Amino acid sequence: MKSLSIKNHYITLIRRIVQITAFLLLNYYIIQWIFSINIYSLKGYASYFPILQTPRSVISNESGILELIFFQGVNGIFPFLLIGIFILTILFANRSFCGWICPMGTIQDALAIIPVKRKKFKEKTHQSLLKFKFLIAVLIIVIVLPLGLSIGSNVLFYNNYKANISLVADKPIGFFSLSEFIFVSFPELMIDIWANGNLTPLFSNPWIFISFMVYIFIIILSVYYPRFYCRYFCPVGAFCGMISGQSFLKISRSPVKCVGRYECGICEKVCPKQIRILDEPFEFFSGNGECNVCLKCMEKCPYGAIKFNFG
Ligand code: SF4
Ligand code: SF4
Repeated sequence: MKSLSIKNHYITLIRRIVQITAFLLLNYYIIQWIFSINIYSLKGYASYFPILQTPRSVISNESGILELIFFQGVNGIFPFLLIGIFILTILFANRSFCGWICPMGTIQDALAIIPVKRKKFKEKTHQSLLKFKFLIAVLIIVIVLPLGLSIGSNVLFYNNYKANISLVADKPIGFFSLSEFIFVSFPELMIDIWANGNLTPLFSNPWIFISFMVYIFIIILSVYYPRFYCRYFCPVGAFCGMISGQSFLKISRSPVKCVGRYECGICEKVCPKQIRILDEPFEFFSGNGECNVCLKCMEKCPYGAIKFNFG
């Protein structure tokens, strides 16, 4: 196994630079402005890159590779190629996308800078809440599966069912996504409220009001519980987490250097995903696929006991 080295001291600085750069580059308006190119001409290629997951834009109508996978499924195409690319990406890069590139992660990390006392859930509560995003992932599959199965055999059912679940059929991941709220629904709602001069658009449809309250609640909780949305709600995180435990990119803890929880335990205190690192195997800890490779534990370990390796 090859040990990869990075000056621990600079990890957060490098990560912030990467996050901010990715945040800007994922915004197609900024890409167009910087490079003076017609970004729409890249649409055919761009959908295949997981990093172009969000925000939804003209080059990524499907809001990234997972949504494109479901989009193809809904249209009766089994997405072999995309599923292969998705799995290979996680196998080679683990969930570094979540820790270093995803704009939702960057926004939550920015919220975690607000100076309030951070909180942790009791372990049992945390473990129960972790299951919620898997429920969302299963729900998405259950909702869209009938479309993929019926498109070639029962067109009448397909059309009726699709009309009934139109929003979810069009954007199955986006429908449950904080990204969709921050970059699409919320700005649209604000524009409507501004145009109306009152709050009527917020109450025009129960779904708008409920989703508004839920996402605001999630954003507020993200201030107190770092990466709250990633931990418990993100459907992309759920699908990534199913594979990342098998990744070639591994974070390990030296049994020789580590002095343990009672002498130290700093790694667990700083982990934004509330992972019980010291209860995990020495050779590879991933918190059951929850680790987003932010490397904060490695940076803060005073004994240099944490390393990341490839192999
Ligand atoms: S911070 Fe390092 S030495 Fe301290 S408990 Fe964690 S791995 Fe062990
Ligand atoms: S275990 Fe380490 S690398 Fe993984 S999320 Fe926690 S602090 Fe980040």
